[in-house]
Amino acid sequence: EKVPQTRWAWVEIDRGALRRNVRAFRGLLGPRQRLCCVVKADAYGHGAAECARVMQSAGADMFAVATVMEGVRLRESGITLPILLLSEPPIGAIPLLLEHEIMPTVYTMEFALAYGEGAVQAGTVGKYHLAIETGMNRIGVHYTEVLEFRRGIDFHRGLACDGVFTHFATADDVDGWDYRLQCKRFDEAVRAMQDAGFSCGTVHCDNTPATMLDTTTRYDMVRVGIGLYGLQPCEAAAARMPLEPVMSVRARITRTTHPAMGEGVSYGFTYRVPRTAVQICTIPLGYADGLSRTLSNRMDVLYRGERAHQVGNICMDQCMFAIQQTPIHQIPEAEHGDMVTIIGRDGDAEITMDEMARLRGTINYEVACDFGMRLEKVYL
Ligand code: PLP
Repeated sequence: EKVPQTRWAWVEIDRGALRRNVRAFRGLLGPRQRLCCVVKADAYGHGAAECARVMQSAGADMFAVATVMEGVRLRESGITLPILLLSEPPIGAIPLLLEHEIMPTVYTMEFALAYGEGAVQAGTVGKYHLAIETGMNRIGVHYTEVLEFRRGIDFHRGLACDGVFTHFATADDVDGWDYRLQCKRFDEAVRAMQDAGFSCGTVHCDNTPATMLDTTTRYDMVRVGIGLYGLQPCEAAAARMPLEPVMSVRARITRTTHPAMGEGVSYGFTYRVPRTAVQICTIPLGYADGLSRTLSNRMDVLYRGERAHQVGNICMDQCMFAIQQTPIHQIPEAEHGDMVTIIGRDGDAEITMDEMARLRGTINYEVACDFGMRLEKVYL
């Protein structure tokens, strides 16, 4: 068992599960369809450098990141596959894009032409992907204006369109009118460009739920994020294909005590020991590690394969949980150094990202990203 030496709280990343999830998504694709692995936000908190290495060896064709520096760090970690930046950065970032061969998304004339100029000066051609606005109202050239946009930039010898894409707002509901409308608008825009003789390169639109739920929109490539990490984007997808969670969060007990009945625990005494025979255990994991303070007194942890209630306000770097002895449920005393599971399995018990997301009123994406903030990662 690998445990980092510097702190008794860590994130475990199951590389075997990651590899099998990548293969499961590959298995959904046709022979000429490519898999772009979305590793933005440090691979949704899982550690981009190591995850990308695993994905590259398991059949990824491209990586997608959200920021220029995420792309630079991937290159510095030795990733050689194409990297797509999913947004249009400031013009000042262009030299870094060219130096590290990170393909930007473009949707403004100003950025596209500056990028083309930069490429010419660097003696190269700047590959880009064109974002098309089809209904999410976030980024992209409006689907009715793609021809005008391409005419405005395609004369430039420093530019080469490597791909065109859109992003779905409601891919968890592939029978819905909103999703269908985005599909139709995207298809129209792609056809218009192709009919006018503009090369589109790799055409792509599917995220995880669209890839799992709709076989008709995959075009040349899919961009899969959350599913690779073994997290389901929605219930409909979960019913379609099982995935293996990749991240677990664990800690060791750093202290145990038996306060007298009526004693308070943690800031503000939001919990008071209700009776005798309650053991209070401390773990070194707090809201600065991604354990949201809104979960205080509302979540469970797993100890020796059973649930125990977290008690008292969650602190920045630590929190406490309670073990209650009852006459019919005699639990052995917890000891300094014993293992606690915050996310993951312990024996037959499990606490999932989805359970914590529901308690927090958010989605599993955010819970995973949050645990990536500070905890050391152990790659199994
Ligand atoms: N494509 C774009 C443009 C995105 O912003 C994202 C992430 O939100 C993805 C693909 C991957 O989405 P998912 O994690 O749902 O697969």
